[in-house]
Amino acid sequence: MSDVKHYKEALQHPIFNTISKAATHLQLDCYVIGGFVRDYLLQRGTAKDIDIVAVGSGIALAKKVSKLLPDNPKVQVFKTYGTAMLKTNDIEVEFVGARKESYSEHSRNPIVEDGTLEEDQNRRDFTINALALHVSTDNFGEIVDPFGGLEDLKSKIIRTPLDPDITYSDDPLRMMRAIRFATQLGFKIEEKSLQAITKNKDRIKIITKERIVDELHKILLSNTPSIGFKLLEKTGLLSFILPELVALKGIDEIEGQRHKDNFYHTLEVVDNISENTDDLWLRWAALLHDIGKAPTKKFSKKVGWTFHGHEFIGSKMVFKLFKRLKMPLNDKMKFVQKMVLMSSRPIVIASEVTDSAVRRLVFDAGDYIEELMTLCEADITTKNPKKFKKYHNNFKTVRQKMVEVEARDHIRNFQPPVTGEEIMQTFNIKPSREIGIIKEAIKEAILEGDIPNEHDAAFTFMIKKGEELGLTVMN
Ligand code: ATP
Ligand code: MG
Repeated sequence: MSDVKHYKEALQHPIFNTISKAATHLQLDCYVIGGFVRDYLLQRGTAKDIDIVAVGSGIALAKKVSKLLPDNPKVQVFKTYGTAMLKTNDIEVEFVGARKESYSEHSRNPIVEDGTLEEDQNRRDFTINALALHVSTDNFGEIVDPFGGLEDLKSKIIRTPLDPDITYSDDPLRMMRAIRFATQLGFKIEEKSLQAITKNKDRIKIITKERIVDELHKILLSNTPSIGFKLLEKTGLLSFILPELVALKGIDEIEGQRHKDNFYHTLEVVDNISENTDDLWLRWAALLHDIGKAPTKKFSKKVGWTFHGHEFIGSKMVFKLFKRLKMPLNDKMKFVQKMVLMSSRPIVIASEVTDSAVRRLVFDAGDYIEELMTLCEADITTKNPKKFKKYHNNFKTVRQKMVEVEARDHIRNFQPPVTGEEIMQTFNIKPSREIGIIKEAIKEAILEGDIPNEHDAAFTFMIKKGEELGLTVMN
């Protein structure tokens, strides 16, 4: 038995000792399985989530562990699933009894019976997620790897323990998980699996939108999100999830004029922005910034391909897309809409940077000016090194100008320098249309640079404007 591998050092956390003692007490075998083992072997740092499989009652084991711990943490029991969870210090441990699963066609929720460790490993999604380490005393740290998960970790392969066609059809969420792990870990999905995903793609319909979105978030938050979106596209899943992106695919050519493939361009933008931000919603904005290009695409002999108004159409599409995916229609969505709507603004002014254009940009972007600039810089995907440098330099100029203008004019959190109250008093008038007109005129004059953003200058301007409107100053 000398070729059985042990990984005792993976189980250094004191909780494993406690679990081991509890298992001895209850005379049952138990194992740590799944993500914890995988991430340890990949040296991805020690996971905070620990999954324990007991050959016997997971709930009883959890309760015993809690008793043995000095802080006796609360055990949360989920009777219907036969699982129990406890949190102690920095970690969360989930306990489940080893089980056997069988599936029906219309649900991803299987019929569950008690089973052996082997049967429990059979129900796992991937070989690298089926690896288990023995926690019971006699065999502490011994690895149980019935499907060659260790080998697959080495060769960076995502593979299912059983027939992939059945595995993905049983629980179609696994298709998303396969692509998500491939993206997070930089692994390849084995060919048979890719074919099975392609074959079963329609079954994604039985998965709730929330679960799908969870996986999309994880793909978007990885280092190179394009890996996942390319796989989603290749397998056909993307048409069910984000058809707006699929519509960006392809290059048209009329009379020798071509436009770029906006799908692959978008993926480059997402990868670029991921080097500069971990903000999930800014990454979503990068993913969606060009979706308005498909419905607005036109060709004219004079100017070639155009996408007029794609930013506005795109920002409207963001709402529908979020709604369809049951994502919250909150400030995060509004942020994404705003980024999409403004996504061309810095590009337009970059070729000729004027103070007033910069003031208007800062005024309209408000608190999100930094994020908008990050998006626009990521949008530079030209392969021409001269142009690449030129565009980046243009944005540097915009950023410099932003700092200068902001120091002088404080546009970022613009507050009208003259209040409505003051206007009413000065001209002795009641709330009326004129007040709005005067306030708007003051704001415009400041943004144009006709007057500085200061009370006295704005007050003088207000009097002039009021008199133009036929109002008289009260003394
Ligand atoms: P992470 O926590 O980073 O998402 P993980 O592998 O721990 O990765 P979890 O969703 O926490 O993923 O699931 C824990 C384990 O449960 C997995 O490693 C896998 O063995 C099993 N598992 C989870 N979801 C499924 C599924 N849909 N089908 C089969 N097995 C699954
Ligand atoms: Mg986990």
